[in-house]
Amino acid sequence: MLTIKGQSISSELAIGTIRYYRHIKNIIHDAVAADTDAELARYRSAYRKCMDQLQHLHDKTLRQLSAEEADIFEMHRMLLADSQFHNAIETSIMQEHKTAEYAVYSVGQKLWERFINMEDPYLQARGADIQDVMNRLLFVLSGKNESALDNITEPFIVMAQDLSPSETVQMNTSRLLGFITREGSPYSHTAILAKTMSIPALMHIDIDENWDGHLAIIDGKNQCLYIDPDEALIRKYQAEINSDKKKREALQAIRDLPAITQDGHEVKLYANINTPSDITAAISQGAEGIGLFRSEFLYLNVHEYPDEEVQYSIYRSVLERMPDRHIVIRTLDLGTDKRSPYLALEPEENPALGYRAIRICLNQPELFKVQLRALLRAAAHGSLHILLPMIISVQEIRRVKELLAVCKKELTDEGTPYGNPILGIMIETPAAAVMADELAAEADFFSIGTNDLAQYTLALDRNNARLHTFYDPHHPALIRLIGMTAEAAHRHNIPVCICGESGADLTLTKTFLSMGIDALSVAPSALLPLKQAIRGTTLDSAGK
Ligand code: PEP
Ligand code: MG
Repeated sequence: MLTIKGQSISSELAIGTIRYYRHIKNIIHDAVAADTDAELARYRSAYRKCMDQLQHLHDKTLRQLSAEEADIFEMHRMLLADSQFHNAIETSIMQEHKTAEYAVYSVGQKLWERFINMEDPYLQARGADIQDVMNRLLFVLSGKNESALDNITEPFIVMAQDLSPSETVQMNTSRLLGFITREGSPYSHTAILAKTMSIPALMHIDIDENWDGHLAIIDGKNQCLYIDPDEALIRKYQAEINSDKKKREALQAIRDLPAITQDGHEVKLYANINTPSDITAAISQGAEGIGLFRSEFLYLNVHEYPDEEVQYSIYRSVLERMPDRHIVIRTLDLGTDKRSPYLALEPEENPALGYRAIRICLNQPELFKVQLRALLRAAAHGSLHILLPMIISVQEIRRVKELLAVCKKELTDEGTPYGNPILGIMIETPAAAVMADELAAEADFFSIGTNDLAQYTLALDRNNARLHTFYDPHHPALIRLIGMTAEAAHRHNIPVCICGESGADLTLTKTFLSMGIDALSVAPSALLPLKQAIRGTTLDSAGK
């Protein structure tokens, strides 16, 4: 048994088999094939091997687990055999002379894009199965990893050198138990995605490819990983997992109670979501609304920017799943670690200080207007709040208001119904916090993004694992900026929410409540522990 220390993102635990994740870009070397017939033969052989693997996995799961769990492999066989998928790959090889890997990847990606843009959450979730089938074909084509895949019938722990947000968002969450990576940091978007999925992640682990297929325990509480744990340790952790589950279930008792301190100070508790499917967890954890929907995650891996109709139907479905609730949708916050193929962003020396978020949107108004029109139309179906990321000046808000006015005029002229969303801004740069008074005069609400506010105030790259010990969410400069922002918001009678990771940090809850923060927006799994902490808090006499 091996014990290795890492950096944890949460206190969650997991026991499962490790599956080594190879980056797809390392598998696809060439797009054009030298010998089309040979490529077709390679693809057909990989196809048959995958079919056999899936049959084997199905039978094994049926014997060892249940018919329900075995069904997933039957469904993957059907996807693989689907004539649309299979024929499109063969056509790409035969007529476009692509390599088998390239054909599988490009056809798989296109199909995935179609699925994730579907309105029905069930069909949307099938996108992850397409990814699984595509990856299986790619791994078999690469000649690697067959045996490891063959041995894993149950949910697994993903091990990788590093995981980008776009890779993470594509993972099939139904069988994902946790992540272990060499790179990454607890404030990266990959860590945020893992928290929303409610799975543990250990970073800074000196991973070894030979662990592929081995049993492991992730202990997020003590920040360590066990490889090949003995029976006694497995039993101990299994008991702890069960007891954590019971504690979580017991918290359901406060689900519908208000988040109010002992002495009567009430705050709103909202959920942060990355895809519409996260709403199920938000509702089950008693979210009073959605405080931050990071809309860019929906479109991270797509090759074409989603059109207005696609965006409208997704935003509308979010509003309709939580009728009459407060819903905040943030406009595209791409750039830095969130890179999308359709934007073809050029490499930058300092991407976090570069072309990102509102800067891209204001520079490409035609692209931004598609999202604004979709949001305006969705606003007719509920209480929609639009949130602008990375604002540093009054002029930026005014420019967005002008674009909104243009979009409204277009919609009126076309006779298309729309609503009047509330317009707020993220306070996530020191410039915005210092100028909060001026910005509050232009915005309807503030939402403080402590992840970026810490990054820019402390001059520390939030994605750099080596800086983790310096990245201090309690730093007095940061707390002072948050306090100044709250005071400015209240001077102008607008509400202020905290939607960065610090919102879920129970050691800061009393400080935030004392500042008069109106709402906290956190990952769904953090909602009830936070509510419990608030309900147990007493602020001192002056409401502080
Ligand atoms: C933040 O910066 O705190 C925030 C909520 O936005 P993101 O983490 O998506 O950058
Ligand atoms: Mg941010």
